[in-house]
Amino acid sequence: MTKKIRKIVIVGGGTSGWLTAAILAKKLLKEPSGEFEIHLVESSDIPTIGVGEGTFPTMLDTLQYIGISEIEFLTCCQATFKQGIKFDNWLHTPNSLKTQQSNTLSGQTNSYYHLFNPPVVAENIDVVSNWVASNNSKVSYAHAVSAQAYICDNHLAPKLFSTPEFKSKTRYAYHLDAGKFVELLKKHATLNLGIQHHIATVKNVFQDEQGNIGYLISEDEKKFEADLFVDCSGFASLLIGKTLDSPFIDVSDILFVDSAIAIQVPYTDLQQEIPSYTLSTAHEAGWTWDIGLASRRGVGYVYSSKYSDHNQAEKVVRNYIAEKTGNMKLSEDLPARHIPMRIGYRQKCWVKNCVAIGFSGGFVEPLEATAISMVETAAMLLAGQFPDNDDVMPAVAKKYNQIFELRWEKIVEFIKLHYCLSRRDDNAFWTDNCNPESIPESLRDKLALWKTFPPQENDFASRFEMFTLSSYQYVLYGMRYNQTIQKHADIVSADNASENFVSQKIFSAIQEQGKTAKVELPGHRELINHIYQKGNTNYAN
Ligand SMILES: Cc1cc2nc3c(=O)[nH]c(=O)nc-3n(C[C@H](O)[C@H](O)[C@H](O)COP(=O)(O)OP(=O)(O)OC[C@H]3O[C@@H](n4cnc5c(N)ncnc54)[C@H](O)[C@@H]3O)c2cc1C
Repeated sequence: MTKKIRKIVIVGGGTSGWLTAAILAKKLLKEPSGEFEIHLVESSDIPTIGVGEGTFPTMLDTLQYIGISEIEFLTCCQATFKQGIKFDNWLHTPNSLKTQQSNTLSGQTNSYYHLFNPPVVAENIDVVSNWVASNNSKVSYAHAVSAQAYICDNHLAPKLFSTPEFKSKTRYAYHLDAGKFVELLKKHATLNLGIQHHIATVKNVFQDEQGNIGYLISEDEKKFEADLFVDCSGFASLLIGKTLDSPFIDVSDILFVDSAIAIQVPYTDLQQEIPSYTLSTAHEAGWTWDIGLASRRGVGYVYSSKYSDHNQAEKVVRNYIAEKTGNMKLSEDLPARHIPMRIGYRQKCWVKNCVAIGFSGGFVEPLEATAISMVETAAMLLAGQFPDNDDVMPAVAKKYNQIFELRWEKIVEFIKLHYCLSRRDDNAFWTDNCNPESIPESLRDKLALWKTFPPQENDFASRFEMFTLSSYQYVLYGMRYNQTIQKHADIVSADNASENFVSQKIFSAIQEQGKTAKVELPGHRELINHIYQKGNTNYAN
């Protein structure tokens, strides 16, 4: 007999559990039938991961969808604006002879941006190809194609004091305090959206004859029955892994990092500028993140335990903090958290009547801050195509799994791109990352193709890919892959002298916009202080 899917139990109260709860509630609990029930069960004994401070521009849509105002979000979560990621020292080992020679030759630094603003477009002119063709080494790619690079250089805000919520001059996302974000979501989902919240540690999972999950039993012997279960239990993967045994695709042979150290760094001066980008700096066996929140910085080192050890890794991150703050004593005294990471994803995130969202479904390291955005997409897709009954569930699950498998595969490729273009040689971590055997075939094919033809829209066939042309261009050209695209460059410059002339004018205009932005836009710190002090919904006063 066909069974309606009306009762949902979410296991886990981390970022993924509460985001999923809020998104599902917004869609299903507003149904006029009033038939739906959503419960969230979380353990008070098993902590959330408590990191994850960088987001994607999708967060603006999510906040608006679930009904949290930007001002409330910013002030509750110590949040700031993020306009992209700056990558330092990824191209060469700093201070090596090669770096010095290369920088002298090209006039460029060992640093580039992956901006949220796409590159400039002009009618009938391929401006980006013209940048490649001109082999313009005086201005970096990001500075040539977007004024947002100058806005980031100058620590400017993405909007004016008077710009309404969620609107902006440039595309942005947020940096946030992960613990505070969970608290805000929990309050909103329980008080405003109708989520039923239970504190309990699940100890047993019972399946029916078809293998569907029937109910859960907690340590205090409470029973949680549902038609659909959402596994947001983190790396424990209580339902999708331990119970349903969905195969885990381990990608540690492609992405080598498997450990992280997180440190919260206080500001020594509360008026100091806040970068409006994540700073990602490459080191001997991985990279550090550096994120400026309103009240502190979040710093961490993501590294491979095969190429480094905990002590050495802690030395790297503490030295980094000492260098950036100029305070060795402070850096030595700050408490550090060591976090093991399992890198890979479930081949099927939806099995029987269980969907895994968050760490339980997969995690492929935080380099491009993809994890929370994956949660948003997964929850939106589940809400948008929610199966009415158990007859349609297998078809919905099949489609969902196809989309997510492709999405994971493509994210892995994009993250690998950052590593495999590096010319660092200070540790086998970097040289092994360039070993073709560690590069997925589809990425190897693209890189071969792009040696003669710059990437184009149709190299990215699926709209479900998270990173497409403009993101690839920022990384490829930031890592100077354009220097290998000679054939096409010759063709463009020979055939299209007038296009090239117009493109040069566009590049000059962008430089001018960069200068004007300095006058027009407030500093990032200034806008954050203004928002926190005034708390006005349209920032106008
Ligand atoms: C070093 C690092 C940096 C990161 N940086 C970023 C970033 O910049 N941007 C980004 O988007 N993402 C980032 N992430 C990922 C991000 O932190 C996670 O995607 C996010 O926190 C979601 O975690 P989660 O909710 O799936 O799991 P968790 O936070 O681990 O929550 C698991 C929940 O399950 C509950 N639970 C577990 N077992 C049981 C049980 N038996 N019974 C009841 N409840 C149970 C726990 O109590 C907890 O509430 C980062 C991750 C790491 C490791």
